[in-house]
Amino acid sequence: MRLLNKKRIGKNDIVFIGGLLAIAVFLFVLMQFVRGGSGAYVEVTVDGEVYGTYALAENQTVEIKKDGKVTNVLSIRDGKADMTDADCPDLLCVHQRAISKEDETIVCLPNKVVVKIIKAKEKNNIDSIAG
Ligand SMILES: [Zn+2]
Repeated sequence: MRLLNKKRIGKNDIVFIGGLLAIAVFLFVLMQFVRGGSGAYVEVTVDGEVYGTYALAENQTVEIKKDGKVTNVLSIRDGKADMTDADCPDLLCVHQRAISKEDETIVCLPNKVVVKIIKAKEKNNIDSIAG
């Protein structure tokens, strides 16, 4: 008596499959978000050398020092990095907008400071640092 093999696709099955698809799409979107589609870290470079890497998710104020003197102040708040203070004469970096997306940068030419949004730290990135 294996009549159940002739089961037709009913309304309930469509709802079930639709639900699975919705969950799959939701997970996919979530993964993209978690993987840092909007950028996850801020990398600060001074004079071509990495000064530090800071999580965008963490509200903090980073004092960028050179020769023991604070040259630039970077504020990370609400997932955005913003140069809030600097001792450079032009203050172009301070006037730049806050950055939050991957590969966006704030540059302070006089102080040779570059602030860049990067994805979560990956080991592969180490290879790309050239002398
Ligand atoms: Zn500047």
